[in-house]
Amino acid sequence: MNPFPVERITPLNQAPIHPEAAFVLYWMIAFRRAQWNFSLQRAVDWACELGKPLMILEAVSCDYPWASERLHSFILEGMQDNGCDFESAPALYFPFVEESRGQGKGLVRELAAMACIVITDDCPSFFLPQMVRSVGKNLPTRMEAIDSNGLLPMAIADRVFQTAYSFRRYLQQQLPRFLDQFPKENPLSGVCLPGLREIPKEIAMKWPMADTLITALPDLLRSLPIDHTVKPVAARGGSRAARKRVADFLHTSLHRYHIDRNHPDENATSKLSPYLHFGHISVHEIFSELRRVERWSLEKLSAGASGKREGWWGMSPGGEAFLDQLVTWRELGFNICSKRDDYDRFDSLPGWAIETLCAHESDSRRYLYAPEDFESAKTHDPLWNAAQRQLLSEGRIHNYLRMLWGKKILEWTSSPRAALEIMVELNNKYALDGRDPNSYTGIFWVLGRYDRPFGPQRAIFGTIRYMSSRSAVKKIRLTGYMRSFARA
Ligand SMILES: Cc1cc2nc3c(=O)[nH]c(=O)nc-3n(C[C@H](O)[C@H](O)[C@H](O)COP(=O)(O)OP(=O)(O)OC[C@H]3O[C@@H](n4cnc5c(N)ncnc54)[C@H](O)[C@@H]3O)c2cc1C
Repeated sequence: MNPFPVERITPLNQAPIHPEAAFVLYWMIAFRRAQWNFSLQRAVDWACELGKPLMILEAVSCDYPWASERLHSFILEGMQDNGCDFESAPALYFPFVEESRGQGKGLVRELAAMACIVITDDCPSFFLPQMVRSVGKNLPTRMEAIDSNGLLPMAIADRVFQTAYSFRRYLQQQLPRFLDQFPKENPLSGVCLPGLREIPKEIAMKWPMADTLITALPDLLRSLPIDHTVKPVAARGGSRAARKRVADFLHTSLHRYHIDRNHPDENATSKLSPYLHFGHISVHEIFSELRRVERWSLEKLSAGASGKREGWWGMSPGGEAFLDQLVTWRELGFNICSKRDDYDRFDSLPGWAIETLCAHESDSRRYLYAPEDFESAKTHDPLWNAAQRQLLSEGRIHNYLRMLWGKKILEWTSSPRAALEIMVELNNKYALDGRDPNSYTGIFWVLGRYDRPFGPQRAIFGTIRYMSSRSAVKKIRLTGYMRSFARA
């Protein structure tokens, strides 16, 4: 068996491997891509070891919270790319689109009953951890969850970090040994495996392969029992679009990212979060491209671990600033989600934040909005409404305005718990990158997580950091942004 980073493997049961069974099954649920994917690599290794065919099941259910045309179309576009990428690979790709609620029930269990071993993705948020745990527990076949989320394997950290600074310092100590342990770019390239021409007949009768269906995407979307009010956006899903985004960003915006990223008019951020969320691209691939553009090598890393934002990587200022978001802030969210089941509950906030928010819960509010007012961008504040309209129409909010968006929901809602509910609902329903560990990093940051108290005490906020639309308008360049989103 090829050497594989053990820190990235979580056994989901103690059941035996069945070498006599028909194939190795990779159940792709989060790292929806053919390249730079530790889970796929692990499944290929097992198939080679056992001399068995490999089946890759990528399914999309219509029964998960917030399932909509927007989210489905992004996932299905990714499946179209995967269909092409696996077409000539020595593996059978089985895309499955659930067409009625409950239709997919039993599919994984029946395939697993024919499999030597089942490999799946270890994703720590949304309904995925509970789903894989419950499937794994009852299978008579060995099942492993593989972590292909970040540069640092989630299992390495032994604690939950309270600040980005302390996590950055930890990363600076730990990361060097993982920077030369990347997944293979093409785990199936040069591999020779026995063929599996089609899915077993009894499976195909109940759960037909989706490849012909996903060629007529709009028709398919209309026919599914999902939310049809949340429409697809212009950004296309899939690994090809993700790769193009990486190239565009690195060549047009990286050099000014540290200067312009807070200015909506400058269009200087990567817009990669939806692709990272759906696993259409891996942080390892982005890092490899960045490294090439920066002509970077491991020797450029600083020796110390000061926790400082700039200077550790030995890259350009744009590269350093980008990696601080892509690695420090992004993996901070994976850290808490992998260690605490309550990462999405109000009570998981730090004690000082709960105390100050609760002490100011009954403060009077000048503006109070119902969830529908927020949803339909009907507040008194043109900047807030513009941000919400961007969310409705593009499935994203510019990075800086996303912070303001959250802070104002806290200010204009009857209680911090109600504000949390509204943020989660709007973010996860409309944002392509929602339902992610980062979603909870951002939303809980609004309420004090990873932050510190700021004096003096203010109404509603207590010592939680405050943000105002007036100072945002003064500080950031958004004339073009307002032109695009000021009106419904
Ligand atoms: C209230 C609120 C809600 C948020 N909800 C989400 C969400 O649902 N999904 C999501 O991915 N991010 C969320 N964020 C974090 C951040 O706003 C987005 O990651 C960022 O706007 C994505 O744009 P980009 O890809 O152009 O980022 P870039 O600036 O190009 O950054 C590159 C990558 O780094 C990561 N990143 C950047 N900023 C942050 C951050 N503050 N925290 C964690 N990771 C970060 C993302 O993966 C991003 O794609 C939220 C922030 C707030 C304040």
